Amino acid sequence: MTQRLFELLLFVALGSAWGLRHASAGWAVAGTLAGAVLWSLLDGLRARRLLKWFNTADTTQSPKFSGIWAELFERSRKIIKQQERRTEESNARLDNFLAAIQASPNGVILLDAEGRIEWVNLTAAHQLGLDQQKDVGQYIQNLVRSPVFKTYFLGDDFSTEIQIGGIGARPSVPSKISVQIHPYGHQRKLLLTRDVTAVELADTMRRDFVANVSHEIRTPLTVLSGFVETLQHIPVSEADRNVYLGMMSQQAQRMQMLVSDLLTLSRLEGSPAPGPGDWIHTEDLLTPAIQETRALSSVIAQPPHAITPGPKSAFLVSGNKSELHSAMSNLLSNAVRYTPAGGAIRTGWQLRPDGWAEFFVEDSGPGIAAEHLPRLTERFYRVDSSRSRETGGTGLGLAIVKHVAQRHGGQFNVTSTIGKGSTFSIALPPSRVQPKFID
Ligand code: ADP
Repeated sequence: MTQRLFELLLFVALGSAWGLRHASAGWAVAGTLAGAVLWSLLDGLRARRLLKWFNTADTTQSPKFSGIWAELFERSRKIIKQQERRTEESNARLDNFLAAIQASPNGVILLDAEGRIEWVNLTAAHQLGLDQQKDVGQYIQNLVRSPVFKTYFLGDDFSTEIQIGGIGARPSVPSKISVQIHPYGHQRKLLLTRDVTAVELADTMRRDFVANVSHEIRTPLTVLSGFVETLQHIPVSEADRNVYLGMMSQQAQRMQMLVSDLLTLSRLEGSPAPGPGDWIHTEDLLTPAIQETRALSSVIAQPPHAITPGPKSAFLVSGNKSELHSAMSNLLSNAVRYTPAGGAIRTGWQLRPDGWAEFFVEDSGPGIAAEHLPRLTERFYRVDSSRSRETGGTGLGLAIVKHVAQRHGGQFNVTSTIGKGSTFSIALPPSRVQPKFID
């Protein structure tokens, strides 16, 4: 301030001194005024330079000022710099925040008061078929065309979520998206989406499973209670009584097998996968399995099947012995149950050229049409229901086999030709095989 005053006085003094050279009071006043005007012009120019700098507010530039203008410039520069830093920090925070929402497995859409898209993350764009860039500014109800969504969006009850079909949903490729709106701010809306296809599918599977189990149990139970009532209320001969009791025991056995297979499945699903530690000689698995199969065949087939082992190829496999045994017996008993009496069954363990160890069962049975093959391992899926039930099948055998294979990191395979027979196999990966071991 004192500097400016000094400057002004200097200009005025110089002006009046210049006037006084003419030795006239009028000139002295004119000189003083001229000095003051000149100083004002100079000061105005400095103010203009500062204002010009304000236009760009480029804090990297530092125009030369002096006195109070230099201080004004320096303070302004500091405030602008601080402001810039704050803006940068809040931009970085916003970027982080958006990146986090972007990475969210749930879809997020921000809508303005009119229902136009302000921001949409990748998940929501993918689930609802939106374009993350092009659809910004578009009305959401024009893009999500489901009538259920329209009614929900235009209504005012957002307390519950709704479910709409996802993009490309078809009966064979189901896709369900859950959508919920959360109003916020001034009539703005946050729209959250979640892919619930798997949850829905699991729910349907659970319902189907309960219905199937109930159905499987109801039939033998009805037969059993029918016979119990007959025996209780109607006098029957000794011979009839024995027939009835035989049938009752058959139905009880059927239920027992069903419960036992259900327990096996739930054990397989609920326990950790077998570690690689237990090494088993393939012959120790094969020999008892073949003996059991021959015994079963001699009971249910007249003449029994010709059951032959494949080429001897002994090695070690690692896994859970009882699980592997259960999978092998399921495949072998199926071959016996579905191959007509006297048919041929060949079975064994073999090493594939790719290092995998494969247990195979080849039969000369009726074969299975190609359209059934992908569904064979579904629980309770049967190609030939009457044959399955007649021979004590539960419809769970191949589901167990597939589970065992998967738990060992292996594969389950079927090839079949109608009228010629089928080959079922489970293969274990090279990490579960010690190929060089020969007894
Ligand atoms: P099930 O207890 O009914 O035999 P599985 O899960 O073991 O149940 O088998 C599913 C279905 O696959 C069977 O019902 C049967 O129709 C068919 N199947 C299984 N193995 C054979 C086979 N070796 N030959 C022909 N059909 C078979």
